[in-house]
Amino acid sequence: MKKGDIIICAVVFAVALILAVVFFFAKPEGKTLLVKADNKVIYEYPLDVDREITLEHNTAVIKDGSVFMLSADCKNQICVKSGEISKRGECIVCLPNRVILEIR
Ligand SMILES: [Zn+2]
Repeated sequence: MKKGDIIICAVVFAVALILAVVFFFAKPEGKTLLVKADNKVIYEYPLDVDREITLEHNTAVIKDGSVFMLSADCKNQICVKSGEISKRGECIVCLPNRVILEIR
């Protein structure tokens, strides 16, 4: 291998690495949590600030850019079992309490 070839290889490798990093960080991460009750937005929180949101029947948590339902008084507990959401368009629905957590 000539010196020039090594440089070309290094450049190609560096470009590939940069592209990989850019694509990794360019994932469509959500930015805002919308809390809806009866189909109306009642709260809006940025996802980059950790907090606990206490609603009448539900408690939601924002942590490290993810959202999950910590507790709920509904019978089925589907919202609590939904797990974490962190991407735009994802949501957690508590049908019995008509509460929706949605990421925008
Ligand atoms: Zn629920």
